[in-house]
Amino acid sequence: MHFVPTQEEIVGLLRQTGALREGHFEYPNGLHANEYLQVALAMRYYQHAKTMSVALSRLVRANPEIRAIIPELSIVAPGTGGLPVAYGVCEALRAHQVYWAEREEETEPLRFRQYFQMMPGEKVLLVDDILRSGRQLTELKSLVESKGGQVVGLAVIAYQDTPRTLKFDPLPFYRLAKLDATYYKDAASCDLCKRNVPIEKVWI
Ligand SMILES: [Zn+2]
Repeated sequence: MHFVPTQEEIVGLLRQTGALREGHFEYPNGLHANEYLQVALAMRYYQHAKTMSVALSRLVRANPEIRAIIPELSIVAPGTGGLPVAYGVCEALRAHQVYWAEREEETEPLRFRQYFQMMPGEKVLLVDDILRSGRQLTELKSLVESKGGQVVGLAVIAYQDTPRTLKFDPLPFYRLAKLDATYYKDAASCDLCKRNVPIEKVWI
């Protein structure tokens, strides 16, 4: 692979590991799609995880403003899916620290662990495996800011935007691959439903 793998190389790796799947999928929010991505299936192979984390870190490092603050930079993930990415990026960047948020129950807000404290003005790079709806990262950004931190950018392995994806402008945003799934807002408008393609419900 190149210094930073190409979009095609990343997509190939995601397909080959079963992370990127073609078919007919229904998301919990009711959207239907012809592709589904579960990055964790690629991250279970350590070398692939490392390849992708190092590549992502190189994109981040190319930003001079972020590069200048790497020794004090915190890498923060919004849950378990982003953890291997966060640790990989932190290691490759030699950033200051890694931590993550989580929720007790599906309906509870994201929170950090007990006794956790942020430094006032702490510089934070938000990292996740995928940006799809953007809800999780939006919530994490608010949480970081509510604790006195400052988000300086976002980095994800894959960007699979939908018509409902939230935006993070003007923050710098880095992704290794952009995936262009076809989305339908419900069953009634879905071509795959019309063609009676067997449907699978995905958990997230
Ligand atoms: Zn459908």
